[in-house]
Amino acid sequence: GGSDDDDDAASDNDSVATPVQHPDDVGSDRESDIESEVDEEEAEKRKAFFAPEENADNKIATANSSFQDFNLSRPILRGLAAVGFTDPTPIQRKAIPVALLGKDIVGSAVTGSGKTGAFIVPILERLLFRPRKTPTSRVAILMPTRELAVQCYNVAVKLATYTDVTFCQLVGGFSLREQENVLKKRPDVIIATPGRFIDHMRNSPSFTVDTLEILVLDEADRMLEDGFADELNEILTTIPKSRQTMLFSATMTDTVDKLIRVGLNRPVRLMVDA
Ligand code: ADP
Repeated sequence: GGSDDDDDAASDNDSVATPVQHPDDVGSDRESDIESEVDEEEAEKRKAFFAPEENADNKIATANSSFQDFNLSRPILRGLAAVGFTDPTPIQRKAIPVALLGKDIVGSAVTGSGKTGAFIVPILERLLFRPRKTPTSRVAILMPTRELAVQCYNVAVKLATYTDVTFCQLVGGFSLREQENVLKKRPDVIIATPGRFIDHMRNSPSFTVDTLEILVLDEADRMLEDGFADELNEILTTIPKSRQTMLFSATMTDTVDKLIRVGLNRPVRLMVDA
């Protein structure tokens, strides 16, 4: 809208303003000058890499917005009612409107904060909004453990009760052959642990990641701690770049940051306390 343009113009003007020397800089020793320059350079790079959270598009995410405020379609609202979600949790409030716009997301949120709903709701909405004529695997969700994947699968299936979206689980405990047959049916959403996912990506001749449109990395810090850095990098560089990527992590370590830089495109950073 018109006000976005005004905002842009204002920040452009700021960036061409004559730099004013800060009084603290006068007479400071050279070494700390260099250090602060490096810090500033790093801060600028970060600013350029991450998209601002409080952009005009995101004004709909207010502190007390409800699921009804997100313009979700009826089957999704019915699904939310079926699982008993009446009000969005803080991470759901922040993530759903941004994810619906197709933007990449980095979410700092702990286990139990409602992350599953935060990414499943916009995923379902996007799948319904742009249906495919033939069955195609369109979404991959990676989680550190079998238990978390199964839990996510159960919530996702329930939320999707009033849709025809299909799901599968790729986790340890099922035979690879069995899972390959499931993958051949091209379920819309694949919920997997990184080890199993990469196993199929490398070895199942009929499985292709070329059709994937959305990738979720849930509890990315734990997957990295479990030694899956190489696998995650391979996955991030193999799935088509045109995808939407959502990464959630309780902690933001250097290795998580590295992964974000490899695999995400101007993500919106979302922080919640609980
Ligand atoms: P996470 O993925 O962050 O670990 P979950 O998505 O599993 O968290 O949610 C944690 C718990 O909160 C689950 O029992 C889930 O059913 C419940 N929950 C999630 N979102 C809502 C909501 N909007 N309203 C009520 N309960 C919710």
